Amino acid sequence: MHLRCVDCRRDHAPALLYQCGHCGGILEVAGESGLEPPRDAALLFSMWRHAGRLAVTDPRHIVSMGEGLTPLRRAPRLEASLPGFRGEVWLKDETRNPSLSFKDRLVSAGMSKALELGARGVVCASSGNAGASTAAYAARAGVPAVIVVPAHTPAAKVTQIAAHGAVLLLVEGHYSRSYALARGLAERHGFANLTTTFLNPWAVDGAKLVGLELFEQLGRAAPDAVLVPTGSGPLVKGVAQGLALCGQQTRLVAVQAAGCAPIARAFEAGQDAVLAWDVPRTIASGISDPLIGYERDGTYTLQLVRNSGGLAVAVEDDALRQAMRDLARLEGVYAEPTAASPVAALRRLLAERRLAPEARVVCMITGHGFKDGAAFAEMPARTHRVADPEDLAAVARLCDEALAENAAAEKD
Ligand SMILES: *Cc1c(COP(=O)(O)O)cnc(C)c1O
Ligand SMILES: [Zn+2]
Repeated sequence: MHLRCVDCRRDHAPALLYQCGHCGGILEVAGESGLEPPRDAALLFSMWRHAGRLAVTDPRHIVSMGEGLTPLRRAPRLEASLPGFRGEVWLKDETRNPSLSFKDRLVSAGMSKALELGARGVVCASSGNAGASTAAYAARAGVPAVIVVPAHTPAAKVTQIAAHGAVLLLVEGHYSRSYALARGLAERHGFANLTTTFLNPWAVDGAKLVGLELFEQLGRAAPDAVLVPTGSGPLVKGVAQGLALCGQQTRLVAVQAAGCAPIARAFEAGQDAVLAWDVPRTIASGISDPLIGYERDGTYTLQLVRNSGGLAVAVEDDALRQAMRDLARLEGVYAEPTAASPVAALRRLLAERRLAPEARVVCMITGHGFKDGAAFAEMPARTHRVADPEDLAAVARLCDEALAENAAAEKD
């Protein structure tokens, strides 16, 4: 098992290495550990039941909190709300990971391998979720963590990171500034960099197991398309790579927010190279990544999308709010704005006939609603004050009216 450059294909010895020393390209893990399935029952009920597919060679280094193995559920009420749709919509519920986002897959894999390679601490630049995950796994492993996030990161994510006792640095400006600072700090302190762009190949490698799970959960078949909220793209790669391990392929749909859509913009324009985005403006904090200084991550993701016969698409914030409501009210799923973006994209692509009405699609629901309650709080909340709880008749009348209103609203 070693590292390989995705550009010049040169091999590198396994190490805490973040780019190809020859061409500066993105590194990926080549090969697998071949570890036996773990004896520890807790590990068997996590993505580590496929430990042999990952890179850790000594199971004692595994840092796990039950990540992965998330539910995949059909979404019949959402399907019924899509005009003319005759296919299947499945929700891959990544909100169920230990720190409430799919980043736990990357951080568990990356942290474990970093410890195996001798790291004494970790650094992570994050728009919130990767930082929360790294802080939690560092606490679990008992190693120091320095987390760097944009100052405007949603309060719930900041609180979560701080709760785990990490050193938390808030940096003014967009995410790419945090990214650059984390690189410098990791070098200065000699800590492993767990930033979950394509920087850390050991972390990105952890995402592939989600593709394996999709194949198993769909009865050993691949979906026609997988819609993935996309910042720099490791999850896009993970879906494709995991399905490829099962001899399968799918159309990859990279979903971005209209207010920060470097990959979708390049796709629409038919360009090969992704350029950085100027000033991100969106409620989707998890994919608000302008890629400044690592545009090649976007270019690589764009290639993966094109090679799959898929597409990249941007959705407006209003469509995100609508999708959050859809998930919450039609399927009982509480998702942060970023995580609802696949549903917004699905609605749009079906309307534009860019997805077939009989397609079987998977939406990656990547992060929990509690991560960013503000977006829901802005929606008009229908609550009813009860003046006198002893007056059952009056309260029942109030309920009848409210229930009738809800039923009427659902018909629209
Ligand atoms: C990080 C993140 C993404 C984007 O993932 P990439 O692999 O960086 O493209 C999507 N959704 C959520 C909730 C995230 O936290
Ligand atoms: Zn190279």
